Amino acid sequence: MNQFADIILPLAVSQPYTYRLPQELAGRVVVGSRVVVPLGRRKYYTGIVCRLHATLPATVDASALKDVAELVDEQPLLLPAQLQFWEWMAQYYMCTLGEVMKAALPSGLKLESESAVRKNPDFSDFDVLTERESRVLDALSAEKGESLASLQRELNIDNILPLVRRLLERDAVVMEEKMTRQYRPKTEKHVRLAADFQDENRLNEVFENLKRTPKQSELLLKYLELSKASTAFALSNMGLLEEVARRDLLRLPGASEFALSALVGKGVLEVYDYEVGRLKTQKALPELLTKELNPAQQQAYEEITQSASTPVLLQGVTSSGKTEIYIRLIEDALRRGEQVLYLLPEIALTTQIMTRLSRVFGDKLGVYHSKFPDAERVELWQRQLSERPFPLILGVRSSLFLPFRNLGLIIVDEEHETSYKQQDPAPRYNARDAALVLARSTGARVLLGTATPAVETYHNALSGKYRLVELTTRYGDRQLPEIVVEDVKELRRKKLMKSPFSPRLTEEIREALAHHEQVILFQNRRGYSPVLECHTCGWTPHCEHCDVPLTYHQQQGRLVCHYCGTPYPLPQQCPNCGSTELRDLGYGTEKIEAAVRAFFPEARTARMDLDTTRSRSSYERILEAFGRGETDILIGTQMVTKGLDFERVHVVGILNADQSLNVPDFRAFERSFQMLSQVAGRAGRKGRRGLVVFQTRQPQLPVVQQIVTNDYRAMYASQLVERREFLYPPFCRIINIFVRHRDERICEDAAQKFAQSIRPYFQSDLLGPDRPAVARIQALYIRKMMLKVRPTFSAASIRRTLLSARDVLLSRPELKGVQLYFDVDPL
Ligand code: ADP
Ligand code: ZN
Ligand code: ZN
Repeated sequence: MNQFADIILPLAVSQPYTYRLPQELAGRVVVGSRVVVPLGRRKYYTGIVCRLHATLPATVDASALKDVAELVDEQPLLLPAQLQFWEWMAQYYMCTLGEVMKAALPSGLKLESESAVRKNPDFSDFDVLTERESRVLDALSAEKGESLASLQRELNIDNILPLVRRLLERDAVVMEEKMTRQYRPKTEKHVRLAADFQDENRLNEVFENLKRTPKQSELLLKYLELSKASTAFALSNMGLLEEVARRDLLRLPGASEFALSALVGKGVLEVYDYEVGRLKTQKALPELLTKELNPAQQQAYEEITQSASTPVLLQGVTSSGKTEIYIRLIEDALRRGEQVLYLLPEIALTTQIMTRLSRVFGDKLGVYHSKFPDAERVELWQRQLSERPFPLILGVRSSLFLPFRNLGLIIVDEEHETSYKQQDPAPRYNARDAALVLARSTGARVLLGTATPAVETYHNALSGKYRLVELTTRYGDRQLPEIVVEDVKELRRKKLMKSPFSPRLTEEIREALAHHEQVILFQNRRGYSPVLECHTCGWTPHCEHCDVPLTYHQQQGRLVCHYCGTPYPLPQQCPNCGSTELRDLGYGTEKIEAAVRAFFPEARTARMDLDTTRSRSSYERILEAFGRGETDILIGTQMVTKGLDFERVHVVGILNADQSLNVPDFRAFERSFQMLSQVAGRAGRKGRRGLVVFQTRQPQLPVVQQIVTNDYRAMYASQLVERREFLYPPFCRIINIFVRHRDERICEDAAQKFAQSIRPYFQSDLLGPDRPAVARIQALYIRKMMLKVRPTFSAASIRRTLLSARDVLLSRPELKGVQLYFDVDPL
């Protein structure tokens, strides 16, 4: 019998803790079980059992051992393959299992402990209490603890803590820790026939007795009808009575609340809480309806199905019909009884795909989404563990953590997208790469799809690690758009720019408006202007907590830090020289919108960026209005570049391509190519050939030509040459090392010492420590090192070296409070 369990806790501790299993739990707790355990003096945490032991492991100190307090559910919450996946992730991305747990579980599956107070039953000295204190004590019971927060709410007192403290001093109350569940099932009041009356004779008796109360007898009949059973049928077959909601019953003509309470009073009917699911399931469909593939799609489809265990990269130009191929592959998998995970990089993209998939797969589709209420995510998780899981899940990166019993296929759509990578907090994982690992361990196939693969992915495809399948033409012979480059520097010199618009762009927008066609304008910066500057002395406002200039948001009438979110009032004058002439430099989407209104007053415009899409519905509203043609010009950040499939978009304007071309990163050109071809792909999806106006100050850059000619291979080839020469991925792996501290000197010191300790192993492959471009965020100073790991190194030994160097460093007393973390395969 197993008497000890190792338990993962949602904390950044390096190893799971061992607990004793009390007798009554010993047989019921298994690997993957969810339990509650004490930690420290009063805290409790939810944990996941990751190992069981019959005898106490030698490394564990028996005297400090504590008991598992509670088993939360009888069935394990985690399947063995998931636990294995967590372990891989913690190891590869150099974080703790607890951090993986935090990312993996919806918070409703974690229980939290909070402080609660309870009346002391032995307390009798009521005279010493003030009126307010008595009021608090009156609200409490001796049996059940109440959390301070809910007490405060109940009594409508601003700060209840001082009162509770005084009550504690007088021994009038006791303090305890209480576990609270965030997830609560949603219930509805339902009505049912009491068990006693589920018998023909008894029911006839009831009707006999109700003769003088026709309203009650009518209600009882209505209830029986509503539960879809005639009296006779119901009596012979009570088991088939259907659920009746109280609301539905009372809605019927003649039904009254009064008659219902009378019947409840007589014990004939019962009102009870019926659990209703929150998951919005799609309608069940009679049969699958899919489109016939064209020959190019058919060929690609066949090539994909021939590749059984090798992952496939499907490179298809925008609008080539990749999604239709995915649909066909999903159908095949479902027919084989397998589950499918369809991964999308961003929430913004789910709406359109969800509509498309639900039209084909109906109630087989489940959606997992970090913007959905947490309770819905809990229910989806539980549904996946049930007898009737969704066979198809559409979701963003965290859906990799869902329990799949029979995963057959993972589709990673837009595999090159950087939002597959989680930045902060740990685990800093890339969902595309993690999907490949998960698939390998579960035997699922993987399909990576994109028009513009990541350089590393394409390299893997050319080297045979993946199978490359291509779709080179758009579906239905639509042409790719024509791209014209406008040289902004030259146009400015000749004074031909109309604020943010080149003459050609202005002309094309006019023309499109005249033809009732739509326009998308892309500016990858939100707010009004990225910088405010004093005209006299050059002062610019910066964030107090971060080393970045503040962005001017005109509509909100204030400045905002885009790193920590802190808002600041708009300065009326320069604090440096007193001048009142502050000018806004550069363009954000707000200012572009203002310019559009000024130049094209007749156009109906909409703006899509983080500020206008705080809620999910606002995002959908903007898109739907655009889809219905109620908007002529849509202005937006990278949100408008992705996946949108609108037929009437004729012109796409890329207002400032230099924003992405000038990013100081070895991937800047690759990213620009991906982003700009994607936004270009929004033009001319139906009807006449679309047009893209590409405004840049650097038309001579080779990557600009590659974008114009949509020559992915040329971009890839030139990038590969540079990466080989300067040693970047795919020729090495990168691990970034970040050091953070409130004190800049301590931060610098820690970074230097860490670099010294590992430099002997890596020599010149360790770069830095340096100040990163933004060297302070949220009041923490930052130093960065970049480690280039050559393929000849063993990954495991490098991890060991780095982790032990970190342990040594952080144990130095003078470096107290230093944070050091690794970002493996950073983007
Ligand atoms: P991609 O995913 O490559 O951007 P989509 O799958 O969205 O391309 O296809 C682009 C457009 O062509 C969509 O409107 C889609 O409905 C249509 N389409 C693609 N394949 C077919 C097909 N076999 N039959 C009918 N319409 C198709
Ligand atoms: Zn000034
Ligand atoms: Zn800030």
